[in-house]
Amino acid sequence: MFEKLRSTLRGFVEKVSTKELSERELSEILEDLKIQLLESDVAFEIAEQLTEELKNRLAGRRVSRREDVGALVREAFRSVIEEVFRGASIPDLVEEAKRLCRSGEGPLKIVFLGVNGVGKTTTIAKFAYMFRKNGVTPVLAAADTFRAGAQEQLRIHASRLGVPLIAGKYGADPASVAYDAIAHASSKGFCVVLIDTAGRMHTDKDLVDELRKIVRVSRPHYKILVLDALTGNDAVEQARFFDEAVGVDLVVLTKIDADAKGGGALSVAYAIRKPIAYVGVGQDYDDLQRFDVDWFLKRILS
Ligand code: GDP
Repeated sequence: MFEKLRSTLRGFVEKVSTKELSERELSEILEDLKIQLLESDVAFEIAEQLTEELKNRLAGRRVSRREDVGALVREAFRSVIEEVFRGASIPDLVEEAKRLCRSGEGPLKIVFLGVNGVGKTTTIAKFAYMFRKNGVTPVLAAADTFRAGAQEQLRIHASRLGVPLIAGKYGADPASVAYDAIAHASSKGFCVVLIDTAGRMHTDKDLVDELRKIVRVSRPHYKILVLDALTGNDAVEQARFFDEAVGVDLVVLTKIDADAKGGGALSVAYAIRKPIAYVGVGQDYDDLQRFDVDWFLKRILS
């Protein structure tokens, strides 16, 4: 995970700490670093900010001990990353579901968005598992009624996990499926509804209308966008698209166990200024991890 970013940063610390550098040498090394950050999927603006921050912190200082340089790089990264994730508080969804239920406000409603293939169905199943493990049984809503496979896949997960699934007939109005699932949860006392949506080509105009209708009808507490870390720049495009279409509250970045680069999380969060709440770290139900800045820093600066 994140090998490229990690080795880039290790190499940088190495170069800066081996000898005293002239201003020109330092600026060449920083230029080099910027290129390697871009190659690790770090968005251009963030790569610029990072190198600028490092330049300011290193200029005029004589840091030669490797640990000192390491600490300095860590601090530079922390300050830039914290700015990217500024004010982004990640809710405790399980607690929120329990609270809503206790106070009689009905179920916590979450709509999942994302293009086919990014791992949306698997992620919904992982969320269902997480909620159930914590004592909150969710209702799944198969509101992608155009792809029979999507409904079937979700049905398999629902039966494996032992959670109810509400599905419509092929071609049924996806918003009505979401509505039915919420009504079912409300009447039976379930505290969470996880709503799957279609993920046809994200440029599809009908898809935007469909998603807007689902959101209008279900009035979700959260719209969670699922993105695939391996798609790099495309993930950034998708993030912008869904955020413009219906608004995104939180992001789940999948397949980071297979992501050798590591900058994608930063770039996506930067592009739409929304936090990565969770990351997918494998194909099993418990391969869902809460994301936070410290967790990320530990992995790229070890
Ligand atoms: P969907 O079309 O977006 O619903 O995608 P699926 O949920 O069917 O997932 C597509 C593929 O990605 C499947 O083979 C999943 O097992 C795999 N997948 C999903 N999430 C992860 C993850 O976090 N890590 C890995 N390695 N594979 C994942």
